[in-house]
Amino acid sequence: MNAKRRKGIQALIDTLKRDFRETAGSTGIPAPDEALIEAIRRVPRDRFVTERDLDLAWENTALSIGYGQTISQPFVVTLMTQLLALTPESRVLEIGTGSGYQAALLGELAGEVYSIEVVPELAAQAESRLREMGYENVHVRAGNGRLGWPEAAPFDAVIVTAAAEEIPPTLVEQLRPGGRLVIPVDTGWYGQDLVLGVRGEDGGLETRNVLGVVFVPLVGRE
Ligand code: SAH
Repeated sequence: MNAKRRKGIQALIDTLKRDFRETAGSTGIPAPDEALIEAIRRVPRDRFVTERDLDLAWENTALSIGYGQTISQPFVVTLMTQLLALTPESRVLEIGTGSGYQAALLGELAGEVYSIEVVPELAAQAESRLREMGYENVHVRAGNGRLGWPEAAPFDAVIVTAAAEEIPPTLVEQLRPGGRLVIPVDTGWYGQDLVLGVRGEDGGLETRNVLGVVFVPLVGRE
């Protein structure tokens, strides 16, 4: 790993830890797990951004990836991943593959990752990028993520990386009892609330609002 990348990663990790501390009053999470920090060190974010943004790859900021879409802000990626409480056995569904960065991070921490992207060009790009990088446990499909991935369900965790008007019921149905869902949901004002849902034994979803966030919209209908 070259010196520039190493320095960039360390600065980013310091920033992430500070952001966790500063938002703990709202999120209830004072720090990310050490395993998550180590996973962030291993995923080369500079390979998921456009050539033009290479110098910004380790900044704690969302960046454009074309097609009107973005690679999310590292703090939000880290927070959402932390909320999923993954183990090496977890089966995870992601809606909104985008660049594939979040999928790679999930691939570092979980057993199997299924990720759906509605823009076919982005799906193809992320898929070949992840393949090249050796993420054999990450499966990418082009399509409407609102329908989930029924053949691979049930999942231990579902993460939606685009904002929905409400929680899509199909995605809840594909969660096992005890499973976790993390999704930005429109507040009615500008922006969204990041919502954590835990599915109960009765099939219902217990939710809590974690933090205000800003995401691109989840497109399409069920
Ligand atoms: N997780 C991504 C960032 C995602 S940006 C990363 O790490 O880079 C949100 C993505 O969701 C965009 O790529 C957008 O095209 C996709 N998206 C929006 N609506 C969708 C839908 N209904 N199904 C699947 N993907 C969708």
